[in-house]
This record gives sequence, structure tokens and C-alpha cells, in this order.
Amino acid sequence: MNRRQFLASFAGAAAFAQSSRKPNIVLILADDLGYADLGFTGATDIPTPNLDRLAQSGIVFTNAYVSHPFCSPTRAGLMTGRYQQRFGHENNPIYDPQNYSAGLPTSQITVAQLLRSAGYVTGLSGKWHLGAASKFLPSERGFSEMFYFRGGGHDYFKQELSGAPREYLIPLERDGKPVAEPEYLTDALAREAAAFIRRHHAHPFFLYLAFNTPHTPIQTAPHHAEKVKPIADEKRRGYAAMVTALDEGVGKVMQAIAESNLDAHTLIAFLSDNGGPINVTASHNTPFREGKGTVYEGGIRVPFVMRWQGRLKPGRYQQPVISLDFLPTFTAIAGARTPTNVDGVNLMPYLQGQKSGPPHERLFWRAGGGVSYAVREGRYKLTRQQGAAEQLFDLDADPSEQHDLSSSQPDILRRLHAAYETWNRSNIAPLFESPRPAQKKKG
Ligand code: CA
Repeated sequence: MNRRQFLASFAGAAAFAQSSRKPNIVLILADDLGYADLGFTGATDIPTPNLDRLAQSGIVFTNAYVSHPFCSPTRAGLMTGRYQQRFGHENNPIYDPQNYSAGLPTSQITVAQLLRSAGYVTGLSGKWHLGAASKFLPSERGFSEMFYFRGGGHDYFKQELSGAPREYLIPLERDGKPVAEPEYLTDALAREAAAFIRRHHAHPFFLYLAFNTPHTPIQTAPHHAEKVKPIADEKRRGYAAMVTALDEGVGKVMQAIAESNLDAHTLIAFLSDNGGPINVTASHNTPFREGKGTVYEGGIRVPFVMRWQGRLKPGRYQQPVISLDFLPTFTAIAGARTPTNVDGVNLMPYLQGQKSGPPHERLFWRAGGGVSYAVREGRYKLTRQQGAAEQLFDLDADPSEQHDLSSSQPDILRRLHAAYETWNRSNIAPLFESPRPAQKKKG
């Protein structure tokens, strides 16, 4: 065998090994990102070239939702594939390492546990926010390598390694040990994610990269701020700089995947955990109504992309989907077990054209133990925001939820209300409340 034949046979064997290997999965979460604050969702003042490239080479979901309008419950749904109200995780857990009741109940199985059982290396970089006591930590919930902080947010520059720091100043932890981190936090989380990918390039991996940007506090690094200097409004300029930090971080992850020759072997999913808090950060959810904390579209409809080169044809997917769908999609492509009680749906057959029609007959939301709720069925949505009456909107004709049809279409309103009541019968009361206002750290 000459050198060329040898190389050809080697390349053939490598290609075979690659095609039969399990795909890697990278789940990237942004925190409080406004719907319209990326290039591919309409922003013209914030440059997001990396996320736009991801969107262009993947599937952009135009009717994609999270299962809650704020941080921790969305993450509980994302990790379990179940409506989090089924197991009482409807509020943000207090940051308290001694509190053994406020966190993702250990009775629930996580996507990381399922993928690890199927032979995956499982990594976390970022914000946890699913309980601060030892039994709730990522090491106990399926992750094998971790660089993270336990709470619901963090200062981007500072941490206190001694004493009893408040939630946003706690030390970052690497595999259970506090570590000093000198870099701007968003850059550090991306650095760790890229290193994880390079470290495990030869083995199937699941990476959960949970950025806390662009969540408050608005703190910017000069190299990000430089990119948004032309924005006149000071509040939006600070927020925008944090969105560019997010974008640059996603770029570093994409680069690590490409340089490891893993583009065709890696599913990348990207979304935000809830809508932008428009008055707090000057984020934009255009054209959707209101924002974070509400069950209007501005609170729950999010930018959402899946890219798997060679397996998912780039384009747009219009049917309603929800973040609960990730778990069964991931376990299906990984050949892992899918628990029978998940509410999410494996999206692959829909995205690859083997199934048509909507993956879900209806989607549901409930917040505050039921003071707010919503139901989406096809083009119609029942919305009941705390303190207001039930409203009915036609999202195809009125995505901004401006024209209430509850009196002109009472039959549809009744049907959606009945569907909500039926769904709600299998939910339980919240197991814990969000921290009291005096201690509250915004989720
Ligand atoms: Ca959030």
C-alpha cells in the first residue's frame, strides 16, 4: 500500500467511525434576551454576526416558546422535558445552600442524567439556578464536568472567595470547588465551553452553556462596548454590549466545533429562557406584547434555533414548539431512554419531513400557582394575565395581542378554557415561593 492508498483507507475508516458515532449536543441558553435583539429577529442596532450565521445555517423557529416567563421554572422544564407545574417548580428558588426544599425536585430525571447513561460526557458552563443546597447541584443532576455558579445571576467582574457573599458575588465553582475567575464572566463561560468541546472532541458530549447575559446587572467590558458605541440611549447601549458578548461567546463555541471537525456531528440549539424585561434593560420584544414575567407573547416567545449540518435543512419552521421538546429530541438522536411522562415531543421527524402538522395540539402556561395562565391552540391563544380577565387573540392576524376576541368568539374561548382546566388538573401547587421582595434577586 502506498502512502496515498494508506491515507485514503484511513480517511474511509475515519469517515465510517464518524458516521456511526452518536451526535454531540450543545444547548446554549441566553438569559432575559429580548426577542427582537438579534440580527435574525430584526435588530438593526446590535451586531450579532455569529448568531445570525448560526440561524442562517440552521432552522429558525418562528413560533417557539419557553415553558415559563422567568428563569428557574423555564430551566426546570428544559432539564426535564415536563411542564414544571407538574412537580411544583413554579417559582425561583431562594439562594441558600442550607435550603433543601427550594430546587428542582430530585424525583425528576434530567436530560443530563439520560444522556450520561447513554455514554455521553456531560458538561455545564454557566448559571444553574435550580437550587443551591448540595442535593440540587449539577454534580447530583447528571453533569460530569462543571464550571458554574449556583444562583440566579452574577456580577460580571467580581466575586468574593471568603466570608458570606450575597448571591451575585458567590464564587464560581469548578467541579465543586470555588475558583477565582479574573475574566469578564461571559467571556469566561464561553472559554470554558470551547475548552470542553476541544477536550472531548473524540467522544460524544452534551454541553449545556447557560449564559447569564444579558441579565442584569448591566456591566460591560470595553471590547464589547466598542461594538455598540453608536447607540445613543445609554441604557440600551449597555444592554446591547452584553448581547454582543453573548454573540461573541456563541462564535467561540462555533469555532471550537468547526476546528474540531464536528460541524456534521453536532446539534446546536439556541434559545433565551424568557423574554426581555423591556423597562429594566431597554430590551425589545417587538412585535410582541409586554415581556418577562407575563404570559403575553413578549414573556414566553423566544428566539430559537437548531443547527445540525447535513441533517437539518436550513430554513424556517412555523409550527408552535416549546423548550420542553429539547429533551425528547436529544434523547432520540442520542439513542438514550426517553421517560414516558415527558410533555415535550421529539422534533426530528417534523424537521426532517417524515411527519407533518403541528407537534402539539395545544401548549400551556401557568404562573403564580394559576393567577396567570395561557393556552395556545393553532392560531388562537387564551391569555389570562394576573389582575385581568381572560382574553382571546388570533396570533396569525394579531401577533401583538391587541384585539381581544373573547366576546366575539365565546365558543373558542370556552374550549381553550376547558382545555386549560383539564391540563391543570394534573399540576400541583408550587412547592416553594420566589424569595420575598426584600431578599429578591430578579430571576
Ligand atoms: Ca431569565
